[in-house]
Amino acid sequence: MTLELDVTGRRILLRGCNDRTAALAVNLLSQGAVVGVDAGQLTTAVADLLARGLISQAEGANYGEFDLIIGVDTRATMNSVSRDVGKVTLVGGGPGNSGLITLAGWDALQRADVIVFDRLAPLSLLQDLPARLIDVGKMPHGQQTAQEAINELLVAEAGKGLRVVRLKGGDSFVFGRGSEEWQACTDAGVAVEVIPGVSSAIAAPELAGIPVTHRGLAQGFTVVSGHVPPGDPRCMLDWPALARAGTTLVVLMGVKNLGPIAAALIEHGMADTTPAAVVSDAGLLSQKIVKGPLADIAGAASLAGINPPAVTIIGDVAGLDLGSVQAT
Ligand code: SAH
Repeated sequence: MTLELDVTGRRILLRGCNDRTAALAVNLLSQGAVVGVDAGQLTTAVADLLARGLISQAEGANYGEFDLIIGVDTRATMNSVSRDVGKVTLVGGGPGNSGLITLAGWDALQRADVIVFDRLAPLSLLQDLPARLIDVGKMPHGQQTAQEAINELLVAEAGKGLRVVRLKGGDSFVFGRGSEEWQACTDAGVAVEVIPGVSSAIAAPELAGIPVTHRGLAQGFTVVSGHVPPGDPRCMLDWPALARAGTTLVVLMGVKNLGPIAAALIEHGMADTTPAAVVSDAGLLSQKIVKGPLADIAGAASLAGINPPAVTIIGDVAGLDLGSVQAT
């Protein structure tokens, strides 16, 4: 916690106590403040400051002697209070903009002892949280943390009796491998819960002013992964059927394979003039949108320097122009 305040000679009361209270007290002392604490339970470090006479014990009756009272969030990381038994909470963080996480997700982050996150999560939220942060970022084509290792980490941390949050971008169950983490937890007998998130499959088009459905234009939308190209033996999708489906097609993880994807759709009967759009970094300051007919979209995206993460939208809705929608 940073106080934009000259605290020299000020009497400051810390009301409540958690794992960071000793750090705060020492910080305040080093800035010349006189510090008191009023809490039902103290951490060892705060008790030690009291025992050494560096801070004083306060109580309601003498609150009037203080210039400032700071309320300490005692829900977070209090070692000496009985905590929940270890649990893993899979939190969908939304597409990366800090305003697009759910209230339940934000609450879980604030209560967490450990947060295991990767790069598509809303990172700006993590700055002032009390939890220990573990980055298991999986960069495309870059350094990888094996899923197995992440599963083991979650189980091990929860096994210590900690509240573990696994924070991901979007929704944990949409190409997020959250269900594998769920299975790993249940296999290990670790309690697990999931808090849904706003998936980029819907939010990225939306933030670019593209509705995935629109009366008269699209009666549905299909979300697919483009991480393997059509025709690849690992590809489980029926591209001829997708070309005919008449729904909006939303492709995640498809930047690299956009050319072959567009070609397959056209080959199987989708008009090459079908409107398409690519939205990268949706909800972030670096958001980019490229639009064009299906036949040209891969070239246009590469010319514009579109990089992952990006979502491609194919269908008449991509031709609608509602203007860009501002994320909060
Ligand atoms: N669970 C996530 C998806 C994970 S797969 C969700 O529900 O959104 C990763 C893919 O999500 C990226 O390759 C990209 O296609 C998409 N994505 C995630 N965040 C994005 C963002 N801010 N802008 C555009 N696409 C994004």
